Amino acid sequence: MKRDYYEVLGIARSASTEEIKKAYRRLALKYHPDRNPGDKEAEEKFKEAAEAYEILKDPEKRRLYDAYGHQGVSNNGFGGFTHTEDIFSAFNDIFEDFFGFSTGRSRSRTNYGPQKGSDLRYDMTISFMEAAKGAEKEIEIQRLETCSRCSGTGADADNQVVTCPTCQGRGQMIRSEGFFQVSSTCPNCNGQGTIFTKPCPSCNGKGRTPQYRKVKIKVPAGVDTGSRLRLRNEGEAGSRGGQRGDLFIVIHVEPHEFFQRKGNDLYCEVEISSIEACLGQVIEVPTLEGTEQIKIPAGTQPGAIFRLKGKGFPDLRGFSPGDQLIRIKMKTPTDLTDRQKELLEEFLNIEKQKEKGGFFKKIFKKVEFN
Ligand SMILES: [Zn+2]
Ligand SMILES: [Zn+2]
Repeated sequence: MKRDYYEVLGIARSASTEEIKKAYRRLALKYHPDRNPGDKEAEEKFKEAAEAYEILKDPEKRRLYDAYGHQGVSNNGFGGFTHTEDIFSAFNDIFEDFFGFSTGRSRSRTNYGPQKGSDLRYDMTISFMEAAKGAEKEIEIQRLETCSRCSGTGADADNQVVTCPTCQGRGQMIRSEGFFQVSSTCPNCNGQGTIFTKPCPSCNGKGRTPQYRKVKIKVPAGVDTGSRLRLRNEGEAGSRGGQRGDLFIVIHVEPHEFFQRKGNDLYCEVEISSIEACLGQVIEVPTLEGTEQIKIPAGTQPGAIFRLKGKGFPDLRGFSPGDQLIRIKMKTPTDLTDRQKELLEEFLNIEKQKEKGGFFKKIFKKVEFN
């Protein structure tokens, strides 16, 4: 169950943007992985705070969250961080904001001037083997592109764009209330500062039109379900010269009939007969690359696990790859020929003599029922 974002940051629902920033900054510094190396709980807290901040700092996302809770923001590609880069980008954002490095970004939040295009989310299903080896994919998405007819101005022709007479091009209305001056977005031009008499017929005056675009995606080897790939500037076009949004690819990996994945380790089960286990055997097991021969030593027990070092999934962050673990399942041979039965009978007789009557003692163990 996800915690309430306001609770995570320890702030009131009415908190101002400044208070949100302050609260996040305090938590981010406290739980930053550099300060808490190897501390899983701190890492979780750090992620949780970054996620809460990512939503609450943005007025639109905050509005959706206030109205619909986690549901309101989870389907738009905003909720949840699975990729380390995202957490740190949220972390960097706040320091940029604090020290004033990113003036363009904060300006884009107001209605006036350039506005950044929205980020987009695309859910992509890939096969188990594609996740292991990486893949090149091409997808088609619909996104808002700058209208080619009016170059984004929204007007039918350039000479029809005029300065908004209501706000004299400022985009903001300033009125006095007692000692205070209150500014609000100009209702006549929606804060754009310009109006036009005839809207562009291609985009209905919006400056952007939905268009289909093909995007090539390089899926790195080692991704797992929930991995998010960020393609910068592949989201929607900005308006009024604003920056493009980003495209987030959310990965879903199909299950495999033979392999299972846990972290970067690869698991599989191989069935051998109990006779093979007695005598030892070289068996061939499938791997991500093809097949590999492993030696099962004589006397191997059911459930024994053999490890192929480095034969698991590659690591996304460049650490060493996982291992492949092979669990031995045992089956009792059936359909024996008369000759096989004869040999096994003989085997059993020798076994009985070896044990000198201790044989039955060994199989009949006291069973406790509870
Ligand atoms: Zn247009
Ligand atoms: Zn105006």
